[in-house]
Formats: sequence, structure tokens, C-alpha cells
Amino acid sequence: MIVAAVLFGYTALLCTLMPRLLRGARWAERAPRLGIAVWQVLGVSSLAGAVMAGLALTVPTVRVSADLASMLQACVMALTAQYASPGGAAAGAAGAVLALAVLGRTAWCAGAAVLQIRRERRDHREVLDLVGRRDAVRGVVVLDHAEAAAYCVPGRHRRTVITTGALQALDDEQLTAVLAHEDAHQAERHDAVLTWAQTLARAFPRVPLFRTAETEIARLVEMRADDVAAARSGRLTTAAALLAVAGGRTPAAGLAAGGSTAAQRVRRLIEPHRPLNRARIAAGSLTAAAALALPLLVLGGPAAAAMQLNYCPDGTPPSQVTTMR
Ligand SMILES: [Zn+2]
Repeated sequence: MIVAAVLFGYTALLCTLMPRLLRGARWAERAPRLGIAVWQVLGVSSLAGAVMAGLALTVPTVRVSADLASMLQACVMALTAQYASPGGAAAGAAGAVLALAVLGRTAWCAGAAVLQIRRERRDHREVLDLVGRRDAVRGVVVLDHAEAAAYCVPGRHRRTVITTGALQALDDEQLTAVLAHEDAHQAERHDAVLTWAQTLARAFPRVPLFRTAETEIARLVEMRADDVAAARSGRLTTAAALLAVAGGRTPAAGLAAGGSTAAQRVRRLIEPHRPLNRARIAAGSLTAAAALALPLLVLGGPAAAAMQLNYCPDGTPPSQVTTMR
């Protein structure tokens, strides 16, 4: 029961406290890739914590043995011990329901999200192929529209789209910055990152961690794409390019250069650039790795210890069988 309680406590802490601590963190703006990774790790770790807490309630641990018959007997004894009492059976059933519900809900929402996004992208590509014209030199699809907008439709049949309004508003350097921004979205698969964040937020809409992570990741992937563009064209040029296309609308299937966070990103680009130093990035990465590993260690520790115990011989009372809860 202690293992399950620790895992529940850990998951609750991640889901409620971490979004308050990390929302709008300045260090994440200085290292957007690390920020994205940390939010992803928190999401995966909280999911893993909930599932493993359910497993810890459901499945007792027995010593692993080469003697299959004896090990199976121990398994039966441990299960019998756990499920002999109404309380143990109820806890086991509740744990199984929790683990299956979390896994099933996540898988269902992920599948639905992937199907919806594929359909939206396919439909949008078909429209683009009808109304847009290919610019082979720039590798983009040009749309005749007065509104200055640029976006990409990610995936295997990717398209980078730019309007004639944007071509008129941007000079060559700014256009290079915008295209570098869109290339970064495609190269780093920001669409998949966003889809996963949206999946968790829709699967568990009442969990503050997932709601905040969706917003923060959407902000940070734009900042990361801005940084790639700025490395190529300069921060002021990228800021000017963002301003030019900030008002452009983006279809649901696309990732834009502008968007609702454009003003904040422009301000970030024109402020003095202070990237996070390597030591802090290493410390953040290690912390994220520890958060990812913690549920496994909490669950695996008692299991590993159980492997060292004297294996219960025939006739051992069920109460002496090690159980992992
Ligand atoms: Zn973008």
C-alpha cells in the first residue's frame, strides 16, 4: 500500500503543484527546447505514476525464481492473500480500473486526435493543390491573398504556404526568417509534440498539468522556431518578419509564423538574448530524467527487494508473502 500511496502522492504533486511553479517560467523562454522536454516529461511521468499506482494496488510481488512451478505457486498465494479480504479485493479492483482507464482514455484520445489531424491535413492539402501555385525556387505554395500569412502543413506530404500579401510585406531576409521558422516546425516535428499535448489536455481536461502544458508547449515551440530563424537571419530581422505576418490566420491543420503569442515573442526577440548556460541546461535535463525515472524506481524498488527475499516454501502462510502496494 505504501508504494501505491507514494505513487499517488507523486502524481498528484505533478498534476497540481508543477503547473503553478512552471507556468510562464523565464528559464524555459531562454531554453525553449528544454522547456518543451520538461513539460513532456511531466505529462508522461504523471501518466506513468497513475498507471503504476493502479498496478501496485492490483498485483502483488513475488520473488522471481527459475523454478516456474514454485513461482506460480507463490503468485497464487500472494494473490490469494491480497484478495482474501474485502478491502484487499476492492483495492485491487480499484487499482486495475484506474490503470486501465488511464491507459484506455489516453490511447482512445490519441487515436482520435491522429485521425482528425490526418483528415484535416489531407483536406487542406487538396485545397492548396487546387488554389495555390508551387514556387519551386523557394519550395513553398503561394496563395493569392492580401492578408500577410505564412504557415506549414506538417507531415509526410508537408507544405509550406505563404500568401502574396506576405511576399509583398517581407523583404528577402525577412522571408528567409519566416521560412526558417516553418522549416524548424517541420524538422523538429512540433506538430507531433503539440498533438500529444492536446491529446492529454482533451483526455483529462480537469487536470491542471495537462491544460497548462498544452498552452506552454504551444508557446515554447513557437519560441524554439523563432530561435532557429534568428540564428539564421538575426533576431531583429526575425522580429520584424513576425510583426509582418502576426495578423495572418492559420488553418487548424497548420503551424504559423504569427499567431496569438506573436507580440510576446517579438518582445523576446528584441530584448538582449540570454540563452541558458550549459550547466543549467544539464541540471534541468537531469531533473527531467529523474522525474521520468521516479515512478519506475518507486515501483521497481520493492520488486527488486522482493527478488532477494527467501522464497516462501510450501506451506508458508499467505501473510508472509511479500506484496507490492
Ligand atoms: Zn510557428
